[in-house]
Amino acid sequence: MKLATFDDGAGARVGLVTGTALIDLAKAAPGLPATMIGLIAAWDEARTTVAAASGPAIELAAVRLLAPVPKPGKIMAIGLNYADHIAESGQTTPEHQLWFAKLPNSAHAPHAPIQLPKVSNFVDYEAEMVAVIGKGGRHISKADAASRIFGYCVGNDVTARDWQFKTPQWVLGKSFDTHAPFGPWIVTSDEVGDPHTLGIRALVNGETRQESNTKHLVFNVFDQLAHLSQAVTLDPGDIIFTGTPGGVGIAMKPPAALKEGDIVRIEIDRLGAIEAKMQPEA
Ligand code: ZN
Repeated sequence: MKLATFDDGAGARVGLVTGTALIDLAKAAPGLPATMIGLIAAWDEARTTVAAASGPAIELAAVRLLAPVPKPGKIMAIGLNYADHIAESGQTTPEHQLWFAKLPNSAHAPHAPIQLPKVSNFVDYEAEMVAVIGKGGRHISKADAASRIFGYCVGNDVTARDWQFKTPQWVLGKSFDTHAPFGPWIVTSDEVGDPHTLGIRALVNGETRQESNTKHLVFNVFDQLAHLSQAVTLDPGDIIFTGTPGGVGIAMKPPAALKEGDIVRIEIDRLGAIEAKMQPEA
């Protein structure tokens, strides 16, 4: 199944995506929780109802897609997790997983303009597969991890590089408003199958900048959940950015920052694509 959070002018709702349209679950199944986090938390009971939902389809072109989880409790992200990105960053493969947070304010709709902040002169893209936590929990084993993931999205770990490198701690450089676009919807884990076989690409103005496959993750998604949940209880609807391959703008020769009007597109096999224009902060 593919589940989106959308607004057609009457407020945010959850929709079941079917081809180029979606079914409004608030109308088709009014007994279900009205938010994506609520629906994920109730998934064991809700799943059959959602799968059977029917009703008038609303064309995707007629709605605004929001971040599938508009206000995640947590957005966690792993750094240096593809060999070619580690090499272009001049780093060595970390012995321990390198985690940072993107604050929840950075969650952003998949196709809405991304801000070039007034105070940054180097904004960059990072194509990433995003895992959405389902059941979650603490001390999740690698063997159990797959069953704790609700589904997957396409994400862009937008980064203000100058702010990232000004200090040893990355949180502010990774957390500017609008800098965690993801979507366009959640593809449920059962429909994705093996998440470690997916082609992943970033294109800027149609030019391919990153092209890899999730099979090249250094720490795979299940390793990530096992590690992270040693410290942190993962909750339904938490968002995990799983790392970016080589080809980011800061590593180009010469380095190329995103600029006003650039169109950044991130694609992942079986998950879809998100695409947005870069726009100065108002
Ligand atoms: Zn990243």
